[in-house]
Amino acid sequence: MASISVLGGGISGVTTAVMLRLFGHRVTIYTERRADRAHGSHDPMTASLYPAASVIPHAVTVDNPAEHLADAQAFFEILRRAEDFGVRRQLHFEVFEAPEPDPAYAPALIDYHRLADSPRRPPSRRDASTLHGWHFQVYFAETPIYLRRLFSLFERLGGRIVRRTVTPDALPDIPGEILVNALGGAAPTVFPDERPASYIRGILVLIPSTGLPRHRDTGQHLSYNYTPSNAAYARADGSPAGVYAYPRRDVWVLGGTKQDGQVDDDGRWRGEPLVGETVDLPVPGPDDSRIPVPKPILDLNREILADLTGETPEMSDAKAVFGYRYARDPDGDGIRLGISRSPDGRLVAHNTGHGGAGVTLSWSSALRVARALQSAGVTMNGSAPVSGPAPADGTLDAATKATVRLARRLRELAGNQITASRT
Ligand SMILES: Cc1cc2nc3c(=O)[nH]c(=O)nc-3n(C[C@H](O)[C@H](O)[C@H](O)COP(=O)(O)OP(=O)(O)OC[C@H]3O[C@@H](n4cnc5c(N)ncnc54)[C@H](O)[C@@H]3O)c2cc1C
Repeated sequence: MASISVLGGGISGVTTAVMLRLFGHRVTIYTERRADRAHGSHDPMTASLYPAASVIPHAVTVDNPAEHLADAQAFFEILRRAEDFGVRRQLHFEVFEAPEPDPAYAPALIDYHRLADSPRRPPSRRDASTLHGWHFQVYFAETPIYLRRLFSLFERLGGRIVRRTVTPDALPDIPGEILVNALGGAAPTVFPDERPASYIRGILVLIPSTGLPRHRDTGQHLSYNYTPSNAAYARADGSPAGVYAYPRRDVWVLGGTKQDGQVDDDGRWRGEPLVGETVDLPVPGPDDSRIPVPKPILDLNREILADLTGETPEMSDAKAVFGYRYARDPDGDGIRLGISRSPDGRLVAHNTGHGGAGVTLSWSSALRVARALQSAGVTMNGSAPVSGPAPADGTLDAATKATVRLARRLRELAGNQITASRT
């Protein structure tokens, strides 16, 4: 078994670390921040602090998104059945006021129906002339819970986490036979990348949760993305912008913006500006700073949610945050999942640049890292022991038993997928 250092403790890093640990490798995460512990604080460059999150390959360039989504859903289904991983399946709508073709990943969507063929009441607003789009069953991970459980799974599987800032000069001091680059937007500063770095700025409005909303006709939990006409909400180039509602148990997350651009060395936004009317909302926390938020995020979501659920959400305590989705070369290669060598000759498996879909692609990308390492000669045969209290009477406590069962299922799925990829 190899000793592997995963650089970066966001969703990509910890998922890859769990994946490799399931195969018995000695895995240590080296990271500036653990996304589970930092959750709730504000650091726009650490993208994992922001998703709500839906499992849909949005705002990302990736080969074969349907295959990625099918793999992702298989892993999230196991986690949905695990006790309180914060994963559920719910009714999700993608609605447009202009005609929209099926997405490339439609073949992988569960219970997929075009609105035109469905009796379900879709998200709508008073001034919408026509509605197009589809609905399906989406996996949804409540990130604050999900991240905590994932880091805890890694540690229960015997993985180690070390707080460390990785720089190109310090790279030789990082132990391990193999490195995994899961540094998010910081990746190109440590592992030079000829592909351009690109970011999508996302503003989120957080409103206090009043429980999970339900579809007023079917009673199902729900979420949606809604793209009105550009007269209602537009981007800087005049194309229609979209809003979304991703309700969580702790807060309802209302989106959003997808502004394309760059982040300068001081962390300032250098890209697509906001257009149209904005309102200044306070950021969470003790200081009294505020950020501008496009007014349609509040107005459209309020109207759509009232119509869809029968309850008008209370916006008076709304707060706002923004994060940067590192989208790497969106017009070209997209996410970085290949293998290279570090200057000191070690194998480096890359796993960065997931744009608006890093939670969605976390398991499918981790699987591809494992496959790529296997192709490079690293064996994927062992399996990790679960560490937990050693009971004197030989019985395992319930939590350890649950972890053993979960690890076994994940390992079995990953093992089958890796074997299948070789045949
Ligand atoms: C507003 C918003 C909404 C989103 N919604 C969704 C959604 O609904 N569904 C979905 O699938 N995705 C969503 N995403 C995208 C998703 O959040 C990202 O794709 C994903 O979090 C990227 O994870 P990562 O681990 O690759 O990078 P990051 O989360 O950025 O993690 C990078 C890690 O590297 C560490 N690090 C950085 N530099 C160094 C260094 N020099 N040394 C050591 N450690 C370092 C950081 O501390 C961090 O732990 C959203 C993103 C945003 C911003």
